[in-house]
Amino acid sequence: MLEEYRDRIFHCLKCGACRLSWEVSMPICPSGVKFGFDSHYAIGRIALARGVLEGQVKVDSELMRRVYTCTSCGACDEQCHEAVGVDPLQIIETLKSIAVESGAIPPEVRDYLKAMTVYGNPYLLPASERGAWVKNGQVKPFSGQEYLLYIGDVGSYDERAKKTASRVAEVLTSAGVSFGCLLDRELSDGNEVNRVGDKWFYEVLAENNIKLFEETGVRKIVTLSPHAFNAFKNDYPQWGFEGEVVHYTELFSRLIQDGSLKAAGTGTVKVTYHDPCFLGRHNNVYEAPREVLASIPGVELVEMERNRNNAFCCGGGGGNFFSDMLGSGEMSPSRIRVREALTTGASIIATACPKCFNMLDDAVKAEGVEDAIEVRDISQLL
Ligand code: SF4
Ligand code: SF4
Repeated sequence: MLEEYRDRIFHCLKCGACRLSWEVSMPICPSGVKFGFDSHYAIGRIALARGVLEGQVKVDSELMRRVYTCTSCGACDEQCHEAVGVDPLQIIETLKSIAVESGAIPPEVRDYLKAMTVYGNPYLLPASERGAWVKNGQVKPFSGQEYLLYIGDVGSYDERAKKTASRVAEVLTSAGVSFGCLLDRELSDGNEVNRVGDKWFYEVLAENNIKLFEETGVRKIVTLSPHAFNAFKNDYPQWGFEGEVVHYTELFSRLIQDGSLKAAGTGTVKVTYHDPCFLGRHNNVYEAPREVLASIPGVELVEMERNRNNAFCCGGGGGNFFSDMLGSGEMSPSRIRVREALTTGASIIATACPKCFNMLDDAVKAEGVEDAIEVRDISQLL
């Protein structure tokens, strides 16, 4: 598997450019910042890949723990791409695939994949509860409406994210959008299954989803989560999916522009926006969420020093939201991000991802700054 990347692996200059955002001179790799060793940065992981390729390093689950703390945030690619062109993330994720194929995965990742295999979600809950976020029949089952509103595992089962799912549905309804949901027929999009390296299982999930989309006549999808958005938009076409995919912030922005959606404000508030990696860096959606925020009367948008392509990951990507390989503590990426948000003087951190929301919301509590700042999804601010 790594053979395919031989040239790129040997091309690594060991320059360490993947450790920092050079535009703002600040650390950019969440796992490297948390643990501090080269093996937790792309630079060390490429050295590890070289060792595996040359047969000098044996892949075992203890060694792979270091690789699995990578959140697939893509910040290292952003730094390395133009200067050197190694694009380390694909190589790091190939190491994860080798770990899955050889059974050398840490127990936390094994438990996540087991739950996905047995229950179809990481919450160990039945599929019949997938639609439990719907309040008072507010959402119709999908039956050929213009859009499928795809909720995903976190939005379907997590208590905080269920509220966001409900709010997004409420806003779409108020704007007169024709949409429905698959509810208990919905299947996991599999983005995290892919990111922890189980390529075979990901393909099975994708094929099952595509079959379901074809059977039910889905042509356009609006997603709650940037992770599902990324899977449907970038990966599913290779298995024949041809539908249009948008993240809800993109649809909201369009609706605001055509006058179908108008935001109401109740006062002046300083808001800083945290770019989710799978919306921003992986898909270049930087402006739509900001356009939605800017349309809310009374919102003053202030940027963190690390924003857009230089945004600092919350630590929840690459399956880490479920496996928690990065752990807690003062140097956890989400707590660092909350401290960065506080320096802007904002009283709200807005985000557009249910995983980022929970990571940052927990971090606000861990930092003990609930009186100074709160986390809100963009849909809740409208
Ligand atoms: S992965 Fe790229 S940025 Fe990082 S050390 Fe190697 S060449 Fe430099
Ligand atoms: S993808 Fe993110 S967490 Fe992983 S090595 Fe690159 S910068 Fe670090």
